[in-house]
Amino acid sequence: MSSDPEAASVTPLLAVTGLCSGYGPVRAVEQLDLHVMPGERVALVGGNGAGKSTLLHTLSGLHPARAGTIRIAGQDSTRWPAHRIVAAGLCQVPEGRQVFAPLSVEDNLRLGAYSRRDTEGVRRDLEQVYTLFPILAERRQQRAGTLSGGQQQMLAMGRALLGRPRLLLLDEPSMGLAPLLVEEIFRVIVALNEQQGVGILLVEQNARAALAIAARGYVMENGRIVKTAPAAQLLADDAVRRAYLGG
Ligand code: ATP
Repeated sequence: MSSDPEAASVTPLLAVTGLCSGYGPVRAVEQLDLHVMPGERVALVGGNGAGKSTLLHTLSGLHPARAGTIRIAGQDSTRWPAHRIVAAGLCQVPEGRQVFAPLSVEDNLRLGAYSRRDTEGVRRDLEQVYTLFPILAERRQQRAGTLSGGQQQMLAMGRALLGRPRLLLLDEPSMGLAPLLVEEIFRVIVALNEQQGVGILLVEQNARAALAIAARGYVMENGRIVKTAPAAQLLADDAVRRAYLGG
């Protein structure tokens, strides 16, 4: 599939044009263009403070856009409230997991399905999350606050999956995890994409790991996209290597 929406007849799942977002005088996202095709795996890499989290919050309707347009499957979602964006299939897994510590693992997962009325479908999706992450099945009655960081990351991903996403927005899923767990989380991201066709927008400071599983990548600096190319090309790019891959 072509990743260029101009060239492809397929409507992008997500299309962002000229997006600006910020806080008071801070211009965290400036004139940003980006797209994700249905079922595509895309990585967005950038250093501390580049504006990655602000971008995701703006896409999810948690922070207002100042200018520009966000389209989900062709529909202008720029001013939609967060719940409508989730219902349209865009689900965010927030940075730092943000699970509800006093609630059980299962109740946390069910919260991800709060807007769904198809009880049977929710039950099936719960079982599927437990198949993807067997450790969550073992701990389903345990309080989420007692899970390890890696398990909380799995729970946060599972909760987003209960929203039946067409596009999963992942904010730094590798943060604070041991390398083996990062591998495990990234393996599940690839599986979700390949088995269920869920599109992935993976935001990471861990550029090497993110680009290794993505088809395409964007590099973000100071609120702007400064480079976009097939992921393999970015991995081989001298400037990208120096700035983000340790030379
Ligand atoms: P990190 O990986 O460290 O989370 P990031 O790429 O996600 O970085 P953002 O958190 O989006 O970057 O921050 C972008 C810019 O906006 C930074 O200059 C940051 O200091 C600023 N910023 C973020 N949140 C706020 C806020 N609530 N109020 C004011 N400025 C903010």
